[in-house]
Amino acid sequence: MTQKTVGEFAAAHTRELARLLRGLRARLEIADPDDWARAEDPRPLPSASEAAPGVCASAESASVEIRLAKLKEDVLACRKCPLGAQRLNPAFGVGSASARVMFIGEGPGYEEDRQGEPFVGKAGQLLDRILAATGLSRKTEYIANIVKCHPMADPSDPSKRGNDRQPSPEETASCRHYLDEQILLIRPRCLVALGAVAARVLLGTQEGITRLRGRWREYLPAGGEDPFPLMPTFHPAALLRDPNLKADVWTDMKELKRFLEKA
Ligand code: SF4
Repeated sequence: MTQKTVGEFAAAHTRELARLLRGLRARLEIADPDDWARAEDPRPLPSASEAAPGVCASAESASVEIRLAKLKEDVLACRKCPLGAQRLNPAFGVGSASARVMFIGEGPGYEEDRQGEPFVGKAGQLLDRILAATGLSRKTEYIANIVKCHPMADPSDPSKRGNDRQPSPEETASCRHYLDEQILLIRPRCLVALGAVAARVLLGTQEGITRLRGRWREYLPAGGEDPFPLMPTFHPAALLRDPNLKADVWTDMKELKRFLEKA
């Protein structure tokens, strides 16, 4: 091996070592829930209008906003399932009518029931930090749930904390069309299912979230013509219980970012 070849060999291995160290540091940097902000990528994603030049985005999004407001009125008056009589406030959805990504959870909890907005408790605050680290926010994207009213384990006491349960198949079936209409109105580039319940309902599978997460699938809303790309990831509440899952969610968010940059 010539001297020059030895130098090239050493340089290649130094670069590889640096790459491995960067990857290791990225995993360690999000070892704490409060460290999502430190992982924030300074490069903002292109806005929806930048990413789709030539579209009259403001007129289109105003029309979508009006139709979303009408749909929200329907939800406010809805009593199609027993949750309607138990809730304090439905959590319809929040975000931009021209969102590129729709994040979908299973249903509102204690704080969401009080504030009438999805993901506003501790898990929601963590979701906000995850979005910020990905160059997104709840103002530029859209956040919704499969069911709009709080499923309570003990409906006789809505003031009790931790009084949550998963929505039943009947409640999910009653409410699903609202989510489908939200998707078809906003037409995001992709969907992200937050947690096992949302992923299983949308994908019609019993597979575990550990196997489902991080892989692109498709979801076709009722009445839609083309399926939307959908990626499941862990629910932020799962990260609060087990911080070891954060590295996987960060991997999924980087994949989401790659998808948006090329979409
Ligand atoms: S959960 Fe959905 S279907 Fe049931 S009452 Fe609330 S809005 Fe209506």
